[in-house]
Amino acid sequence: MTQLTGYLFIISAPSGAGKTSLVKSLLRSDLNLSLSISHTTRPPRNGEVDGCDYHFVNKETFQQMLLNGEFVESAEVYGNLYGTSQQWINQATASGQDILLEIDCQGAKQIQQIFPQAISIFILPPSADALAARLKTRAQDDPEVIRKRLSAAREEVSHIAEFDYIIINNQLDEALNDLICIIKAEHLKKERQIIKHRALITELS
Ligand code: 5GP
Repeated sequence: MTQLTGYLFIISAPSGAGKTSLVKSLLRSDLNLSLSISHTTRPPRNGEVDGCDYHFVNKETFQQMLLNGEFVESAEVYGNLYGTSQQWINQATASGQDILLEIDCQGAKQIQQIFPQAISIFILPPSADALAARLKTRAQDDPEVIRKRLSAAREEVSHIAEFDYIIINNQLDEALNDLICIIKAEHLKKERQIIKHRALITELS
């Protein structure tokens, strides 16, 4: 089992479930989390910044990086390639910080094989109608992409049992609170607490 000093959280969801807003809000909370910025061949949407939302690269660069073994996991999602940097994971795990990966189910599966101790969370929209509405309102992808994402949502949801936690993102604040509860509860599990508070437990035993 590949060692981790901090915790590794995987967040997956069908496109349009509100995962990105949720993760942005989570990063503003005072939890010590470091979010991986993926590489992708998808063109940037309005307002997206290279190196901030994604590292935007062309297909040739991505495939070369893949051949060089530069990704810890990678997947083709909705016709575009996405990958998590191996180097970033190495640095983040060495720093002892908690790590957050916002990746699809295929990537989640690859990460769970390398890091079985990873904690996986699946975000669901409150309804199929809400999902369709969110994708259309966003309207930053062309209609064909929106259609692909709607049909892909069913496929994504079919993997739900592979995740440790499920959050329904109806109200952002509530979903954020659920997410924070999961992270805090994981930190309170006895395995880590016994090590962290060994002196106290010894003193009280
Ligand atoms: P979007 O294009 O809407 O930003 O993301 C599309 C999908 O790709 C989402 O499900 C997102 O979680 C996933 N994704 C983003 N980065 C990665 C990555 O590095 N690896 C994998 N496997 N999926 C990713």
